[in-house]
Amino acid sequence: MAGSSRTPDAPVPALSDGSARPPSGEARGDERRFRLYTLTVLTSGIVAATLVSLLWLPFHGSAELWWIGPVLALSFLLAEQLGINVDVRSGISWTISFTEIPLVIGFFVAPFEVVLVAHLVAGISTLLVRRVSGRVLYNAGAFLLEITSAFAVAGLVQHAMGSTAMTWPAALAGTLTAPLASTLLALAAVRVLRRRMRVGTALRLTGRILVVGFVNASVGLSGYLVIAGTSNAWPLVVAVFLGLSALYWAYSDLLREQRDMEALSDVSLMVARSGQQAAARPATRVDDLTGGVNVSDWATIAERIKDQLAAARVVLRLRLEPTAAMTTVVAGEPLPLGDMVGEDALVRLPGSHVRHFRITEANSDVASALLDRGAQEALVVPLRSANQLLGLVEAHDRLSRWRGFGKYDVQLLGTMASHLATALDNRRLLATLRHDAYHDPLTGLLNRPGFRQVAREPLRDRRDGAVLRVDLDVFSTVSDALGYAWADRMVIAAGRRIRDALGPDVPLARLEGASFAALLVGYHSTQIHEAAERLREQLSAPYPVDRLTVEANAMVGYATPSADEAETLDIDTLLQRADVAVRATRGGEEVRGYVPSMGQIFLRRFQMVTQFRQALEEGQLSVHYQPKISLPSKQVLGVEALVRWVHPEFGKLDPDEFVPAVEAAGLIGVLTGFVLEQSLIRVRKWMDEGLRIAVAVNLSVRNLADEDFPAKVVEALRRFDVPPELLTFELTESGVMADPQKALPILQELHALGIVLAVDDFGTGYSSLAYLRRLPVDEVKIDKSFVLGMGTDLGDLAVVRSIVELGHSLGLTVVAEGVEEDVARDQLEAMGCDVAQGYLISRPLAEDRLEAWLQARTARSAGRQRETILTLLT
Ligand code: C2E
Ligand code: CA
Ligand code: CA
Repeated sequence: MAGSSRTPDAPVPALSDGSARPPSGEARGDERRFRLYTLTVLTSGIVAATLVSLLWLPFHGSAELWWIGPVLALSFLLAEQLGINVDVRSGISWTISFTEIPLVIGFFVAPFEVVLVAHLVAGISTLLVRRVSGRVLYNAGAFLLEITSAFAVAGLVQHAMGSTAMTWPAALAGTLTAPLASTLLALAAVRVLRRRMRVGTALRLTGRILVVGFVNASVGLSGYLVIAGTSNAWPLVVAVFLGLSALYWAYSDLLREQRDMEALSDVSLMVARSGQQAAARPATRVDDLTGGVNVSDWATIAERIKDQLAAARVVLRLRLEPTAAMTTVVAGEPLPLGDMVGEDALVRLPGSHVRHFRITEANSDVASALLDRGAQEALVVPLRSANQLLGLVEAHDRLSRWRGFGKYDVQLLGTMASHLATALDNRRLLATLRHDAYHDPLTGLLNRPGFRQVAREPLRDRRDGAVLRVDLDVFSTVSDALGYAWADRMVIAAGRRIRDALGPDVPLARLEGASFAALLVGYHSTQIHEAAERLREQLSAPYPVDRLTVEANAMVGYATPSADEAETLDIDTLLQRADVAVRATRGGEEVRGYVPSMGQIFLRRFQMVTQFRQALEEGQLSVHYQPKISLPSKQVLGVEALVRWVHPEFGKLDPDEFVPAVEAAGLIGVLTGFVLEQSLIRVRKWMDEGLRIAVAVNLSVRNLADEDFPAKVVEALRRFDVPPELLTFELTESGVMADPQKALPILQELHALGIVLAVDDFGTGYSSLAYLRRLPVDEVKIDKSFVLGMGTDLGDLAVVRSIVELGHSLGLTVVAEGVEEDVARDQLEAMGCDVAQGYLISRPLAEDRLEAWLQARTARSAGRQRETILTLLT
């Protein structure tokens, strides 16, 4: 078998080759030690060679043959060239060559000095041809010692056998000494350079080298003996030799391919596995939700690539996040200038194939980039996917005495790079998907599932966590008045304020609309309350949105697990409780912490909703009517129908409580139908009595979402034979604008029927009169809060006055509700307000009491001629 051991190449630091870069202190120390070692090897080589030359029995081969020397040199050269590198882990490469073959023959055909010079010439020219110039002196010394020790051992064996001529056992022993010597020298170099190598590895390496050396030597020896003993046998020997070489080459290629495949699958697996781990790992921090491979995983990958390429260093530059700067991971020798290398010639490469740079052949840009890295040679490959630069792999300086990076290395790195690029791309995709799944696109905060994920663990570990919930009540009003884009901007601004107030590490989510949730950990209950209060204040400050300033009211509630339930409590329960606490604030000023009694309110709500239909059937619901009179004539124009529910268990229920609940449960159609029917029955009765009194029915948003609603109204009007102008619908403007696309056509349809439309609670929210022009309305009702405040607050008075004036300028009837005082009524009258409604005139009354009220007014009016309170039908 052709194949011979060559020395394991000591990982000579690139530093010993050049002086252009500032070496680190430790590396500089290593360099000095290595120089000293080189000097030692060289000197002892020269001394030993001189000694052996003097002592050696001078003649053995046919020295007259002058061509023996050059032929031997050529053979050594060839044997060296045919050698291949086998990479041993941890940067030590092992070159198998055939040097033992010419060496063993040399013992028979040439004197020591000729063999020595031939080997030296061949070895050094090989090094020079391969540009491994930095280690020439060391290797020259090693060559001298190898050959000298080989001849010394052969001489000793020969002497022991009592022979004067060269014998084959002596030649064999001498030949095996050479690789042994060079291996020992290289292992010593490993020590000098303070590289770690296990004893086991060193022994295995030496053993292998000896085995291959033995095979080589025996092949050379038997070839020589056959040729020498049998005339014309040499073609046979050459043929056998060539056949074996071919076999060996095929095998070594296979070996390399196999090792490369192994490395490739290792790297791919590492990338894939770390990705899975990232995905499986419960995300505990907000950043983790992007699911990246962490830097230590990449370091392992870099290390593996470095080992496989036998490079002094491998640098991975990775853009782990689209906007972030590249992360640099280094395996092997640290970069002389540190990890930050600018966008130089190597980083800016186009395409995605592997480039091979050598400092001796590079242009000045590349050369200076190589110098910055302290490298003589580099393989560089950009990692690209869909033309986007994801990163870069650089391999610097091959750790080998004989050669730099070759074709196989380029191929291997190319394949590894394409695997890495795909893996990175997949990871990015996965990260985007994960990010999107757990984040709110508008604010970039977490969304509900993201919050759940992130909050779970800290809540489990620390039982003092609190979930804070923040609701801004302007969201719908702003989007009604200004459109969704504005509301979105407000939500973004609010999110930022909360983030600023709570700090960057607090898990924060936008749940929906303008509702946010935050997780506070490690606070005392008083601290939580304070934090919540501060937050509420900060959020209630006006929001400058473009050129407008929007006022917002923030409601803040929180929930903490009580001591006995901490173990069992999940984040959803806390979120729900915080929500309950927010609702308990009822838009008020205070911040609320959840207490179990609040849960009762929700139980009550739940019952209200589930029992509503039954309550209707059992007659628990009724309609009360509150009169509206015209100003200044005080004629009763109509009544507002207000629903009442007397619950067998809860007693009188507040419509402000149950109407929203019924609405949320999708039962508002039933409720409106009932009130409308009762009201029309009432109007019909009045008409039958000759009275013309209109009725106003309150609508809710959901009524306008029902396309069949106008048809139902028409049907009801027809059934009771009531003219449409005696029916008014009251709606809040936010109700209309929640979904103007749907609401407007329905309103227009109702208006076209001749039904009167009124805007209720006008002045709250962001009503603007100009915007009213877009609605088909006939009437505005000034919100009772202004009317009630009018007597004491000049601001309220001003609001009322301007609504009256502007309403009139738009040709609308202006109604004031909440008229409780004479003064208010007088002021309204003076302003020209058209209609008044309120406790001053009458509270909402049940049907029979309303009848009595009307009777009394009619009776009184009979006595006082000038005031006709009831308008009689003519
Ligand atoms: P709203 O439409 O603004 O109704 C006027 C509310 O003001 C009524 O409260 C009424 O009792 C009260 N009010 C009337 N005059 C005065 C006054 O002088 N001073 C004060 N402080 N309050 C006065 P109520 O009946 O509790 O109704 C509350 C809300 O419930 C209503 O506000 C309306 O939004 C809703 N609602 C009532 N009935 C219905 C209904 O049949 N359908 C729908 N969709 N909503 C209804
Ligand atoms: Ca109303
Ligand atoms: Ca109202």
